[in-house]
Amino acid sequence: MSEREPIHEPAVPLIDEESAWVHEAADRFEHATAQELLGWALDRFHPRMAISAAGGLDGMVLIDMAWRINPGVRVFTLDTGRLPRETYSLFEDIRERYGIQVEFEFPDRLEVARLVQQHGPNLMYRSVDLRVACCEIRKVEPLKRKLATLDAWVAGLRREQWRTRKNIAKVELDRNHGGIVKLNPLADWTLDRVRGYIDEHDVPCHELFDKGFTSIGCEPCTRAVPSGEPERAGRWWWELDTDKECGIHCSVQLLGTKSDGEREAERAGVREEAS
Ligand code: SF4
Repeated sequence: MSEREPIHEPAVPLIDEESAWVHEAADRFEHATAQELLGWALDRFHPRMAISAAGGLDGMVLIDMAWRINPGVRVFTLDTGRLPRETYSLFEDIRERYGIQVEFEFPDRLEVARLVQQHGPNLMYRSVDLRVACCEIRKVEPLKRKLATLDAWVAGLRREQWRTRKNIAKVELDRNHGGIVKLNPLADWTLDRVRGYIDEHDVPCHELFDKGFTSIGCEPCTRAVPSGEPERAGRWWWELDTDKECGIHCSVQLLGTKSDGEREAERAGVREEAS
């Protein structure tokens, strides 16, 4: 696909009717380049579109690509309050290199205070439910607030990253966030291709990648992994039977032990207990 052709879609996404054009767009861009998809999305959604960045290589590739198309591209991050120092250094690098002021979204102070008061600052190691409650307050809820102000968001998800991501489309309807559009321009990229782009374009990188990390998250919940391990193996490494997701891209489920409804009820209980 070398030229952007007009695509017939409604001016404002609608929950039901839009799924048809979103599917059409997903088919249409499946074999397009990431730049072509970003170019189309920037034309259509900017400034009500932003890239989600947490420090990973994929997010940095997207920022570099989008900035080359439109230097005014918006970037946001979820500042959980538990990010490693190196992540803040990267955001400074983004500011210096691209002139992009990353938009920080913070958790609700009172909700964090209640949870920590009740269960301690390192509650995540005690149970999956407490860990998920922490992710919910520090990540999921702030993301909801941010996405309520946007018509589209861009994520660096790739199909090969983890089993929960193998079926993602490049253009999706995000029904968990008001039916806005979610774009995954790197869905079919490999990690080698991501690294190749980074090297070729001298894209700033998170320092922890030089220390054996293969995925970047909160400081207490991410560690380096031996070479050859799956990319997300260092996330919540002590959990052996979860999907290694925080809930912002898909729901967190234990593998085959409990239903979504049961786990959802448990999470609600943990949150109530903390309030
Ligand atoms: S990744 Fe860890 S510290 Fe970060 S929000 Fe989730 S449980 Fe809390």
